[in-house]
Amino acid sequence: MFASIRDAAAARAPNLRRDQLERLSATDVEHLFAAVDHVAFGGALNALLRRRRAPLTFRLGKRMTSSGGTTTRFQDARNPDSLRFEIAIAPRLLFTTFQLAPAANVCGCECRSTREALQRVMEHEAVHLLEMLVWTTSSCRRQRFRSITHRCFGHRASTHSLITPTQMAAQYYAIRIGDVVEFEFEGRSLTGVVNRITRRATILVPDRRGQRYSDGARYRKYYVPMEMLTRSTSK
Ligand SMILES: [Zn+2]
Repeated sequence: MFASIRDAAAARAPNLRRDQLERLSATDVEHLFAAVDHVAFGGALNALLRRRRAPLTFRLGKRMTSSGGTTTRFQDARNPDSLRFEIAIAPRLLFTTFQLAPAANVCGCECRSTREALQRVMEHEAVHLLEMLVWTTSSCRRQRFRSITHRCFGHRASTHSLITPTQMAAQYYAIRIGDVVEFEFEGRSLTGVVNRITRRATILVPDRRGQRYSDGARYRKYYVPMEMLTRSTSK
């Protein structure tokens, strides 16, 4: 499903042919939506929009910073023919997230590129549109939404944020930079300080033969998967 949508979008939109996007336009976003609709829903979203005579427009939300995308339903209460929808995507959030980290968690899926993250955001927004078309209101906090995104796209979470490994570690493992942690290394139990978090954590363990750091002490560096760390109780 994921690859079919990606390839269908790339066939139409030259900007979507590389993993790390260099530029993004509202037209690219429109092509991506069309690919999601076509591959995942057999074009049902477009058919529902046409039946309602409701236009769908796309926008790059240049000022959006907390949400990867939004879907909005507009209707003037006095004019039933005024129904229209808009999907906005936050390019700045997409691009800055990947400047900060090599991966991000979007909709519960690990994404290693801006293109992957953008597609996950669009899959999420497409389900908002589907719910709005069928049930008028939509909420990604509800079970119905989660069930649709899980069945259609394999999403394991429904959130509008793009979470970097540092934030993920803080959230899921309760480990932050500066924490004292313990881990097993070649059968020994080591204690060190978390210095950096990417896909793995960088732990500095005091070691006489290690490299000298700016605090004057010598440390040896270990790269440890997050799930192998336990927060040390004794600081
Ligand atoms: Zn949502």
